[in-house]
Amino acid sequence: MNKVLTAVICMALIVACTTQKDTSKDAPMGIDELVDQMTLEEKVHMLHGSGKFTSAGVERLGVPKLKSTDGPLGIREEIQNDSWAPAGWDNDFATFFPAGGGLSSTWNLELAKRYGVAIGEEARARGKDVLLAPAVNLIRSPLGGRNFEYFTEDPFLNKELAVPYVLGMQAQDVAACVKHYAINNQETLRGSIDVQADERTIREMYLPVFEASVKEGNAYSVMSAYNRFRGAYLSENDYMLNQILREEWGFKGFVMSDWGAVHSTVESAMYGLDIEMGTELDDYDEWYFSEPLIEAVKSGKVAEEVIDAKVKNILYVMQEINALDTAKRKKGSINTPEHLQVAYDVAAESIILLKNANNILPLDASVVKSVAVIGDNAKRKHANQGFGAGVKTKTEVTPYDGLVAKFPNIEINYAQGYKEKYLPNDLNRSWGLPVDYTADPDLIKEAVAAAKKSDVAIVFGGSNRLVETEAEDRKGLKLPFAQEELIKAVKAANPNTIVVMVAGAPYDVSGIHQTVDGLLWSWFNGSRAGDAIADVLFGNVNPSGKLPVTFPAKLEDSPAHATESFPGGPDVVNYEEGILVGYRWFDTKNVEPFYAFGYGLSYTSFEYGEVSSKQTDDVIQLSMDVTNTGEVAGKEVVQVYFSKEQSTVERAAKELKAFTKVSLNGGESKMVTIEVPLSELAYYDVSTSDWKVESGEYKVLIGASSRDIRSEGSVTIN
Ligand code: BGC
Repeated sequence: MNKVLTAVICMALIVACTTQKDTSKDAPMGIDELVDQMTLEEKVHMLHGSGKFTSAGVERLGVPKLKSTDGPLGIREEIQNDSWAPAGWDNDFATFFPAGGGLSSTWNLELAKRYGVAIGEEARARGKDVLLAPAVNLIRSPLGGRNFEYFTEDPFLNKELAVPYVLGMQAQDVAACVKHYAINNQETLRGSIDVQADERTIREMYLPVFEASVKEGNAYSVMSAYNRFRGAYLSENDYMLNQILREEWGFKGFVMSDWGAVHSTVESAMYGLDIEMGTELDDYDEWYFSEPLIEAVKSGKVAEEVIDAKVKNILYVMQEINALDTAKRKKGSINTPEHLQVAYDVAAESIILLKNANNILPLDASVVKSVAVIGDNAKRKHANQGFGAGVKTKTEVTPYDGLVAKFPNIEINYAQGYKEKYLPNDLNRSWGLPVDYTADPDLIKEAVAAAKKSDVAIVFGGSNRLVETEAEDRKGLKLPFAQEELIKAVKAANPNTIVVMVAGAPYDVSGIHQTVDGLLWSWFNGSRAGDAIADVLFGNVNPSGKLPVTFPAKLEDSPAHATESFPGGPDVVNYEEGILVGYRWFDTKNVEPFYAFGYGLSYTSFEYGEVSSKQTDDVIQLSMDVTNTGEVAGKEVVQVYFSKEQSTVERAAKELKAFTKVSLNGGESKMVTIEVPLSELAYYDVSTSDWKVESGEYKVLIGASSRDIRSEGSVTIN
């Protein structure tokens, strides 16, 4: 390294050292004293993994190990301390909670809270301190391999769900580790890709969920992502970790690296990382934050106060979650009927009715005598498989199981219809394989026979967790395994054909939409997915899920693909679409989506009255009547979008600013009041590095989806 460069780095490190926030003054008594009594070695060894999911404590001072576990689908099966092999326990079963797409489709904040509480209780029952959840990266492309874990393409819906989830979880004495911080929106080249996105884009689109998790949810930890942002890895990103997270947002907890996301000792230490996890070196002493960090302190490259600050961040969290006072600590509970009920309630509210021509749904159990249950996903379980964390669960009700159990008097004729098939490949792994799209004529024949002898045929298609997986983005929107051919054949055999898709991200379902009258969308929906599906099919539950992402008519319509900036590479990805992520792009550029963001039908219908507004200095209050104009009870998600037509800056045509879910009996009418804080209307002003609410007129667009506006008004901000 040349001398000038060395000098520049040294200067930068000195500046960063002074900006590393010392949380000790906020910390309760005891922490400073504890740290004073620790040797340098003891302190440093708290800062790196001592197992796949543990980092050391200081036993002689009563500081326990820090035990983490994966989410977000539930508490991960116990693995060996030093390897990914299962530990072979017989008491590490857990509830499989609906994946992110399921929770977000409910648009129900009460459910987000109950989800957080339940998963937090399970983490505690397994003796964990940190739960690596929620996973909240914004969905930038429909092809993102981890879309099924994430919530949505919309920053407002994202943060609204994350906050109650984090609060609910942390109230159980377990720290949330909100992941993956930040701007980590693809799996392709995730370990090295350098994301370039402008300031307004990151502030308005990608950071709000983390900001709200920290400021409103008081999240105790965040996970630094694999990728780089503006040149620097996220585990050594001074701007993201020191300046934004700690200084601007006042974060007091610790930053834990993603597994194997650390690349340096001194830079990571100075630029904001607290705990290094998952480095691929068998000897823990060789990790960046182990002997090399002790060495760096001894040689003066890292001040010991920097180490102290990190240890205090960890102790602060331990204190908050009562890890230092086990008598006070909540014990949690696991695999309880209550948790299975949460899983069921989320799944039931997440299912989306995409098409219901001729009111083919709901089915009438007093009329239907036989059902052909067709498709690999009728019997497939989704708790595990693919790269990344799953759940070892005792309970996973498949759609087949759910139908058989709930409707014992209905004859069920099962046929697999299609099976997962992959092309020959030399990838030495089981996930993310090239999909074989050819149909299996024998399976189709069987399915047709089952359909012919049944009153109704239900095809369970979609994808699975080998197709949608961490560490690999999908290649396109085409549904795997020739399902469309199967569905067309089944429909030709039985006009009463219904399709239920089980997947975690958008696909091209246009052919299927045209073919059948009834189309439902479900997700990798947890331990009781099949019960929820059976109840929606037969009308015990009226569907109220709404899409948290746009389904494009074709891939090139999606913003990251229209701008040819996904997945980028080999070194850099430029977020060319800027603030126009998701429906913001479709609406601003007048591109017709296949299914709009926020879309989802019901077995009843709703009417919206005229909107009226009241304003105070900091809140806009919107009121309108919403009426259930049908006979059955149902829930409607009333969505409030704002639009600023005359603006000094680029604006999306529509931005979600509020929503509420209302429950209405048949014929019932309710006055719905929704508050929009004025601060929600702000854009990020790069010239002042601050949020700014522009004065003038804003359109208020209230509807049942981003493209189904039922009531319009306007407000003027002075
Ligand atoms: C994932 C994280 C996960 C960690 C530990 C990483 O590959 O990105 O989400 O928590 O592994 O399993």
